[in-house]
Parts: sequence; structure tokens; C-alpha cells
Amino acid sequence: MTAKRTPYAIQGGAGGTTPAKRRSAAAAPAPDVAAGEGGSAASMAMSPLIDGLLDAAWLVEPQSLRVLAANAQAATLLGIDVQSLCRSDALALAATPQDVAFWEAARSGVMDTNDAQTVLGGADGKLIPVLRRVTRIDPGALGDSRHGVYLVVMRDRGPELRAQAELEERLSELRATLDSTTDGILVLDLGGRIVNFNPRFAALWELPEALLADRDDAAVAAWMLRRVADPVTYSKRLQSLSESPALEGSDVLMLRNGKVFERRTLAQRNRGQTIGRVFAFRDVTESHLEQHRALPSSSNDALTGLPSRQLVADRLDYALALAQREGIAFALLHLNLDRFKPINDALGPAAGDRLLVEVAKRLTSTTRQVDTVCRLGDDEFLMLLHQADMQRAEGAARRVIEALQPPFIVDGVSLTVTASIGIALYPGDGSTPEELLQAADAAMADMKAAGGAGFRLHHQRAGATVVTLRTRTKLDQSMRQALAAGRFRLHYQPQVDLKSGEIVGAEALIRWRDPELGDVSPTEFISVAERSGFIVAIGDWVLQQAVQQAALWRAQGRQLLMSINVSALQFQQADFADSVARALAEAGLEPQWLELELTESILVQDAQEALHRLQALAELGVKLAIDDFGTGYSSLAYLKRFPISRLKIDRSFIQGLPEDEVDVGIVNAIVNLGKALHLEMVAEGVETEAQRLFMLKTGCTQYQGGLCAPALDALSFDALLDRGPDFEQDLPDTGDWIEGSS
Ligand code: C2E
Ligand code: MG
Ligand code: MG
Repeated sequence: MTAKRTPYAIQGGAGGTTPAKRRSAAAAPAPDVAAGEGGSAASMAMSPLIDGLLDAAWLVEPQSLRVLAANAQAATLLGIDVQSLCRSDALALAATPQDVAFWEAARSGVMDTNDAQTVLGGADGKLIPVLRRVTRIDPGALGDSRHGVYLVVMRDRGPELRAQAELEERLSELRATLDSTTDGILVLDLGGRIVNFNPRFAALWELPEALLADRDDAAVAAWMLRRVADPVTYSKRLQSLSESPALEGSDVLMLRNGKVFERRTLAQRNRGQTIGRVFAFRDVTESHLEQHRALPSSSNDALTGLPSRQLVADRLDYALALAQREGIAFALLHLNLDRFKPINDALGPAAGDRLLVEVAKRLTSTTRQVDTVCRLGDDEFLMLLHQADMQRAEGAARRVIEALQPPFIVDGVSLTVTASIGIALYPGDGSTPEELLQAADAAMADMKAAGGAGFRLHHQRAGATVVTLRTRTKLDQSMRQALAAGRFRLHYQPQVDLKSGEIVGAEALIRWRDPELGDVSPTEFISVAERSGFIVAIGDWVLQQAVQQAALWRAQGRQLLMSINVSALQFQQADFADSVARALAEAGLEPQWLELELTESILVQDAQEALHRLQALAELGVKLAIDDFGTGYSSLAYLKRFPISRLKIDRSFIQGLPEDEVDVGIVNAIVNLGKALHLEMVAEGVETEAQRLFMLKTGCTQYQGGLCAPALDALSFDALLDRGPDFEQDLPDTGDWIEGSS
């Protein structure tokens, strides 16, 4: 082992040779060497060499290793005066085995220059860490020296090491603090590289072992991005933080797993310079939920346990404030069940309630914990989605639709329930809670008008701003004015014999063109009228009009069955049969030319009562049909017991014909059922020749739909009749697919 290759490390006293031992080993100075004080001429001559140095230095005689001279700094460093030093030798001052080996090697002349961090033995056995350089000075440079000398220069590493130790101590204290804090800490440099994070950070973000081992910054960042609920907003925020290193603040992060983190971000500064960024993450899921969920029970909807209407304002205020402060998007989903009213009417309120409870459960199951599902009343729900942009809101709406898809079993009856969902987004669709609620409500009404079972974004609605006015109250008001002002019209859609192509009947469909609101689809205003009860008045008007028109056609010698739609509420009026009888009598129409279309749901409720009413109507001699057959729940029992003469197969099953195998199956089944019960059948919404042929083959008897004609005003209908079965050409341009019914 040569001295040059010896790796010198600072040694503790334990393994080292103590200075005391070495000093005794050095024994007495060699007789031919004078101590520095009475020193040789050489040492005297060499003193100036080291006196001028700032560092501690001494000179060593290569053969004897005796200290020839030492400067004052050396005496201070070792705590040994210069004379004593000059009576000593290098071996006596060595405190480590490595140093002893080094000086042994030096004695045999194997050394030139050596730099090392080592330890010297000072006074009282004190160990002094030094940075030492040993240089061999040639004899020539020294004049009379035979062997030259070793110049040993040392710098005290004590202060440096003490500072380092202090720093380490502080760091370990800091680390202990960080490790014990409940916050996850992440430190980034200005370039976004990870400088450090604590175990809590790794735990909060559930960083996998592999990521921890690799410390791959990009992978950690990607992992975090994947876990946040709104990666777009999250990235934008990170971007703006990186653009403004001095920016500080806090925000709330929603994670996909439902956790909520509060994220505080501080600029990391050193001597006034921003050198990085510290993120502190705190899990606030519990308090967030408490704040948003654990509400006094009075504020919960008694039926579903969901937060009720009164709380919507609070929640919205909170979401809005958060959104405005942090620039975070959120969404409001207004959900209304399609055809809940008839179901409720049919099954009775208790069963209706059970259905609502089930619906509430399914809705809640689609949302994250941080989101809010409220019940606004009846069959209306509101969902508040935090940190949701358009894409997220649409995704949520789709999940709701999917969740509602499996049939609900209520009191042993299997029900299919769909919903119309309107979506309002912040920012974009309003800047106050009221505006946003109204926007979501209007979008929902729009969806309903388009046939329900889907969602609509407020801003995608045609003429969104105009239609916003069309809130329900407004509609209800305008409807009442429309009836009084005679603005409603009836149009008639031909019902055609599938075999002969002859028009055998007409369905009366109400139309409303409002000077302010424009055309309003019956699906939109009828549901509002059903809620407000105004449907009874409207239904009465329709009955009068349709019966009069039918009487007119009869008077012209035409053989046409007039079908009118009857709402549940109308059907339930105690005097409904009487008013039908009266209308027939006033118009002078024979009852067999009038048909009442009822939906399945009307008939299931209080079957006994329904049977009585149906029988009373049947006794009058009017015909009865089931409308939209297949969309409600089907009980063979009532089909058999009730005096029904026609089934109208819902348009939704006809649409996919003849390709859609499921529709083919359903339609075949309905037609077979109808045949078995000796019922006539009408296929609704036949638009193509292929659909017509398919229905003809099944044995269905009639159809209505665009293939023949849309609902037409009476004059156009007459013109069509006069043209005979070849009706497809030159239809007057008065047909009216109300927007949304297609
Ligand atoms: P509904 O009784 O099932 O009427 C059939 C609906 O399908 C009508 O929509 C009709 O215009 C539409 N339709 C018929 N054939 C086709 C087709 O080939 N393609 C397309 N795309 N649509 C077709 P409308 O007139 O919008 O009425 C919608 C619903 O509003 C009616 O469904 C009915 O439930 C209700 N309604 C309409 N008028 C009255 C009424 O006077 N009283 C009551 N209580 N309800 C009414
Ligand atoms: Mg109908
Ligand atoms: Mg129908």
C-alpha cells in the first residue's frame, strides 16, 4: 500500500491511535536532531518559509520525521507551543493508523505531494480534523539540507464540520417534523423537478413502490394527474404556478377516488430569491363531507334522505364562490323523471315514493362523494358537480342514464324509468345561482320536449337565451292565456290501413303557436299542464274540438275514427265519462267514431276504479286504446280484463325496424300479444316503406307516421282524404313535426 493511494477519511478517536500512545512510541528525539528552539541551522533557515503562511504549517525532516519548524498557526491549531512541537515528530502527531502508515512510507521516500482530510492529535488527546497537504521540498531549494524537507500545511476543518453537523442536525429535525406532519409535502425546484417529498405525501397520493424507488419526476407528475378528478383544471393551475414562481395560495383538489385535498402552495425562498415551490397537501375529505353532507336532518328530504331544496342555494353559493375565487368550473344537472306522474298515479303514492327512493340511491351511486345530489321535489333532482367542465358533466349525465337503465321493481311490478337531464355549466350559463338553476331547468324542459330519456346542455339549445324565459311558471301562465285567447289548434294525423293504404282514422294532436314563445311542443307544455292541473281544461277543449271535427267528417259521409289523447288527471275526473257523453251529444256524434287513447300507466293504478271508469266509457260506446304501448309496464291481467280495442305500438320500437333485432323481437311479441287478445294494432311513427312492409307482415293492422303524413290541419287533412290512397305526392305544406318530437 502506498501512501498516495490511501483513502483518508476523517476517523473518530475510537479506532485511531491516540496521540499519547504515538508520542510515547516516538520516544525521545533522535540525538542528532536539535529541537526547533535550539534548532539546526537548516530549521532556522526554513522558518521564514512557513511563518508567512496563513495556514498552520510545519516542516518535517524526511528521515527522522522530526518537526524541524512550526509556525504560530500550527501551535494554535494543536494547542501545543512551537518549542514543544519542534521536539515532537510527525508520528507523534498522527492520530490514525492511516497517518502512521503514511509517515512510514514518507520516511522511505515514497511520497511527493499528498492531500488528505485527516485528524491530528492535539494537546490533551484532542482530535483535530484537518485538511492537510504534504509537499516534498527538494534539497536544492534548501541550500544546505541533505534530504530536503516535507512541508506540511493544514487547515482546520473544525468550523466547517461543526457547521455541517449543525446543518445535518437541523435537516434531520426538519425531516422528522416533515415526516410527522399530517400534511403531504412536495418540494419542487423552479424547473418543476422534484427536490423532495415526505412519506405522508407518498401515502396521500398512494404513490406505488416502484415510483418511489425510481424517483422519476415525470412519472410522479403523471401519476398525480391521473388521480385528480379534473386533470384539465389541475394542469392549467400547475402551468400558471410555474409561470409565476412567487404565486402563493390554496385550493381544493378533488380526486377520482372521492378524496378531497386542500393544497397549499408556497414559494420557496432563499436569501430573497425564489428557488422553488413547496406544496402541502392535507386530506380534508372528512370535513368537506361534513360541511356538505352532515346536515341537520331537517334540511334533508324526508323521503330520500337527500339534501332538499332549501340547501341548494347554500351549496350553489359555496360552489360559485369557490369557482369564482379559483377559476374552477362546475356543473348543475337538473333531472326530471320521464312519465313519473302517470306511474305515480297508476301505482299509488306509496309505491311512487318507493320508486323515488330507489332513483335517489342510483343517482347518488353515480356521483363522487364531493358532489351533491338534492331532491327539488316530486320527481326532480339536482346534481351539483364540483370541478366539472362540459366533458365531465356529460360523462356524469351518461352515468345517470346508464344507472337508471335496469328496471326498477316496485311492489312486484317491473318499471322502466328514464329521465330528462338539463345541464348548466359555470362559467358560461349564468353568473348567479338563480340563473344557473334556470338554465339547467330550461335545458331539462328542452330535453323533455325532444322526447326525454337523455340530456341536453343549456348552451346547445336552439335560441337558448329566448327559451330560458320558458320556465314552467311562465309556460303555465302563457298556456292559460293561450286557451283563453283561442291560440290552441288541433291537427290530425292520419291512421292508415296497412293493407289497403286507406285512411281509416285520425289522431288529434294539439298545437300551440305562441306570439311570444313561438311553437311550443305538446310534450313540453302538456307535462307542465299535467303538473299544474290545467290539463283538465286543455283536455276538455281538445275533446270538444275533436268531437266536433269528427261530427263534421261524419256529416260529409266520411268513415273516420277520431282518436284523442287523454291524460291521467283528466281520466280520473269523477265526471269524465259524463263530459265525454255531453260532448258527443252536443256535436251529435255517434260514440263508435270516438276513441280515447290512454297510457298503460293510467290503467294500472287502482285497477278496480280504472275498470269501472273504462266500463262506463265502453258502455257509452266509445272505443278505448292503449297509447305508447310497450313503454310502461305490461300486465297481461289488465289487457284481458279491460274493454280495450286497440294497442298503439310506441314509435321507439318502430324506429329500428326492420334491422334492429331487439326491436324486431319486441314488435313481434307485441303483435302476437295483440292478436291473442283480438286487439287491433296501430304502429306509431312509421316513416319508411320498409317499416310499413315489416308491420304489414307481422299482421299489425294500421299505422300512422311520416310515411303517410304528419299531423295536418283539418283543411289539409281533407285535401289528403280527397286525393285517396295515393297520398304521397303534393302534400300541402302544412305538416308539422313539432321540433323535438322527431
Ligand atoms: P302521442 O300520443 O304518442 O302522439 C304521437 C306523437 O308522435 C306526436 O307527437 C306525433 O306528431 C309524433 N309522430 C307521429 N308520427 C311520427 C313520425 O313518423 N315521426 C316522428 N318523428 N314523429 C311522429 P306530438 O304531436 O309532438 O305529441 C307528442 C305527445 O304529446 C303525444 O304523444 C301525446 O302524448 C301528447 N299530446 C299531444 N296532443 C295531446 C292532447 O291533445 N292531449 C294530451 N293529453 N296529450 C297530447
Ligand atoms: Mg297518442
Ligand atoms: Mg303515442
